[in-house]
Amino acid sequence: MKIDILTLFPEMFAPLQSSIIGRAVENGILEINLVDIRQFSKDKHKKCDDAPFGGGAGMLMTVQPLYDAIKFVLGQSTDDEGKKAPNRKNASVSEQMQLTKLPEKTIIVFPSPVGEVLTAKKAEKLSKYEHIIFVCGHYEGVDERLFQLFPICQISIGDYVLTGGELPTMVIVDTLSRFVDGVISAESLENESFSNGLLEYPQYTRPQIFQGIAVPEVLVSGNHQEVEKWRNEQSLKRTKSLRKDLAKNFERKSKKQ
Ligand code: SAM
Repeated sequence: MKIDILTLFPEMFAPLQSSIIGRAVENGILEINLVDIRQFSKDKHKKCDDAPFGGGAGMLMTVQPLYDAIKFVLGQSTDDEGKKAPNRKNASVSEQMQLTKLPEKTIIVFPSPVGEVLTAKKAEKLSKYEHIIFVCGHYEGVDERLFQLFPICQISIGDYVLTGGELPTMVIVDTLSRFVDGVISAESLENESFSNGLLEYPQYTRPQIFQGIAVPEVLVSGNHQEVEKWRNEQSLKRTKSLRKDLAKNFERKSKKQ
């Protein structure tokens, strides 16, 4: 899978070079490219932000460097003439739409608080694309015309506001990568929280007793059936206590089956 990350702050992405994601890159399973949006600015000072029309706090990322950077990673020319929108003041939004067609299995993601909230299901769907382009917003966000120029999927990582799209991009890249074949074992995915609608059961490792606390007997009994039964019970118990919303959904679905 090819992942292009368009950002004003490429130096923020060191975490993607380590551990499991770093290894997937080394093994050629993932290709992650950092693209500096500033290089595409046609402004003589390479400026990429400006004050919002109508006033208000903060700065907005300007559309031109973002447009050129996305076209670059798509391998398409910027073709300025062909893309001129009708200039009439009363032209409808749809008339002004100049939506770029994306190649198959390609998606543009803009992490944003206004997007649909990220879930494991959504991450798994993203993992099926061959080329994902992330656009990292900063300051107050981006000029809205970007969404008229490209089909863009907006994804939020939660109902709060961060200073930029760099951390959310890393969160999304990390979680979708786990669903890409070869990044982690299929077995690890199967037993993970949310995979069956529940939270994962508690786990223990050596030593068997620490500070007087022993691991549950069943886990050292060697009885695999009993271990599985215990884990299923614990998983449900934990979900009921920590995530009543998930537990309700799970029980509703189980009754239907
Ligand atoms: N003015 C925007 C609003 O109120 O919706 C917030 C802009 S935020 C300060 C700057 C950038 O951070 C956003 O454009 C987005 O790329 C990113 N961002 C902030 N919070 C996010 C979240 N919860 N999920 C995903 N991206 C987020």
